[in-house]
Amino acid sequence: MLSDRQITSRRLLLVAAGMSLLGLTGCGRGEEVAKAAAEARSAGPEPAPGALPTAQSSMTPTADPTAAASTAPASPSAAAAPVAPPASAPAAPPAAAPSAAATASASASASASASATVAPAAAATAAPAGPEPARAPAVAEAPLVYELDAERQVVALTIDDGPDPRHTPTVLALLEQYGIRATFFLIGENAAGHPGLVREIAAHGHHIANHTWTHPDLRNLSEAKVRDELERTSELLHRTTGKAPTWFRAPGGDWSPASLRVSAALGMRPMAWSVDPRDWARPGTGVITDRILKDVRPGAIVLNHDGGGDRSQTVAALKAYLPVLIDSGYRFTAPPG
Ligand SMILES: [Zn+2]
Repeated sequence: MLSDRQITSRRLLLVAAGMSLLGLTGCGRGEEVAKAAAEARSAGPEPAPGALPTAQSSMTPTADPTAAASTAPASPSAAAAPVAPPASAPAAPPAAAPSAAATASASASASASASATVAPAAAATAAPAGPEPARAPAVAEAPLVYELDAERQVVALTIDDGPDPRHTPTVLALLEQYGIRATFFLIGENAAGHPGLVREIAAHGHHIANHTWTHPDLRNLSEAKVRDELERTSELLHRTTGKAPTWFRAPGGDWSPASLRVSAALGMRPMAWSVDPRDWARPGTGVITDRILKDVRPGAIVLNHDGGGDRSQTVAALKAYLPVLIDSGYRFTAPPG
């Protein structure tokens, strides 16, 4: 489809990688490959950063960060490979190193490859990164974001499954005490039951993001049902706060090709995480705290929960680890909205 284009040797590599990706995503076999990869990942103990090829279903060869990373190794800002290379691209580099530059930071210094990883809406309006005119499709799927800019000592705290009247107010008070902005991935039906809490989260300056309406395993749902889960939640959050969410997280981190397509179509980027203390399993406050302090690093996206059950261990862990991180020089940030 691109044979009529004037391309440089670098572009040729990008196109070749992109074509292989199109082959992955355009047929049933591709879906199976992606699904198998997602299942293999979910069977592991923890979601490894950069371990999910399902996000590599971009319809734009030049928007493929893996290909870009493989052809532009000299550019520091081009080193981000937020997702693992697909099986059909053995020449691609290994999955993103833990310290890989963020894809979501969308820094002003974005290179051609970095600019290709910004949100669909931004990509559609951005000036062409290369000498050729942009041919972005109407909806481009953004890659999963596992970390932010590793060159800055920042941490993004993300808090899932609320709002919950038992724990969310305490978490908000803690965050205010330490001057921290966080991102709350809200479940639609919880938000519908506690609209005042939703507004309170927003009033504190935190990001409010979409975590589906009922917290289902999206891999088991039709695309129409996935759309219903996401769209209903976005509409409610928009009505409640006056702002539509721009980030989406699949329950359990169980992304599916359909969820990535739908979230992109609804103007949301998919956010994963790089530090998971598995607080939802209530392993003990000390364990939660230790896991976070052991795994945190610049650019980390930390996963915590303020809903879905008794989260008192998480609240206690926040009290313990937030001051430690601050004393260590970390600053907390909410990803760009
Ligand atoms: Zn969740």
